[in-house]
Amino acid sequence: MNLVDRFGRPLRSLRISVTDRCNLRCQYCMPEPEYVWLPREDVLSFEEISTLADAFIDEGVDRIRITGGEPLLRRNLPILIESLAAKKRIADLALTTNGLLLKTHAAALKSAGLHRVTVSLDTLHRDRFRALTGSSDHDAVLAGIDAAAAAGFTPLKLDTVVIRGVNDDELIPLIDFARRVDAEVRFIEYMDVGGATRWSPAAVVPRAEMLETIGRHFGGVIPLGGQGSAPAERFLLPDGRTFGIIASTTHPFCSDCDRARLTADGIWLLCLYASAGTDLRRPLRAGATLEEIRQLIHTVWSLRADRGAEERLGLDRQTTLIPVRALKKDAHLEMHTRGG
Ligand code: SF4
Repeated sequence: MNLVDRFGRPLRSLRISVTDRCNLRCQYCMPEPEYVWLPREDVLSFEEISTLADAFIDEGVDRIRITGGEPLLRRNLPILIESLAAKKRIADLALTTNGLLLKTHAAALKSAGLHRVTVSLDTLHRDRFRALTGSSDHDAVLAGIDAAAAAGFTPLKLDTVVIRGVNDDELIPLIDFARRVDAEVRFIEYMDVGGATRWSPAAVVPRAEMLETIGRHFGGVIPLGGQGSAPAERFLLPDGRTFGIIASTTHPFCSDCDRARLTADGIWLLCLYASAGTDLRRPLRAGATLEEIRQLIHTVWSLRADRGAEERLGLDRQTTLIPVRALKKDAHLEMHTRGG
């Protein structure tokens, strides 16, 4: 019988973080001046990641997304991509990047067998990009998007975290930009996850408001439906273009969540909001067999009852999820460690 958790949700999707380091400091993810990093010796080797991926695949995973931090900071990443792409039971192998280094690596990632790329793009304005990320390299992100398209990663996906008063006036320009670069943009509600220490309810632009703004401009929006366990709801515009909304904050999709997360040091998290995870690095390095790790995954997932975003929705949400002092004590609580 297929593995399911306590709410009947299968294990199908695995996000693998390959580094907790990032070359941007986005206000919604890493706004603090200093961070505690994972010890380098704890970071999994490509061989270890591949072995753990095999165990997850045996338990039902057929979609893998490579994340960070910024995954393109991990040296020789195409070697890992190649080994994952060779696993025939993986139907979808994707990567999420901030795009800064994508121009350099897009062709090699394509050659290695990567299926899809998602690029984070929160603004089309250089000055806003600098204020939002601390980087002046907006042009590099745009060049990375062009390079990904040229390498054959089409249609690309662009992810935009929408924050009130920061970039909520860019919904229409981003849809227009996406068409020019053969991409589909997905607008993500600002989430109160660990690391989002500047989050406030007032900064969230709800799905309904985004749809109202977009529909008013384009003369209507048609829901496409059928997203299954995918986080993005997709919509069709009268001119045939599509876009997505990930309404994690106002309309959580926990009931369909088939996602697990593996941190760069091998901690397996059952939910973006989980306060702790299962250490898979320790048994792996202690010599556990693939079968023993598979069994551990089976047992832990079958007990899973996480539905973090839904629980947050029912609470008084006037504060951030985790105070800065707690984040400084445990890097695993940070979104940039959990792979977003
Ligand atoms: S909050 Fe947790 S359970 Fe809900 S969709 Fe996100 S990862 Fe899945």
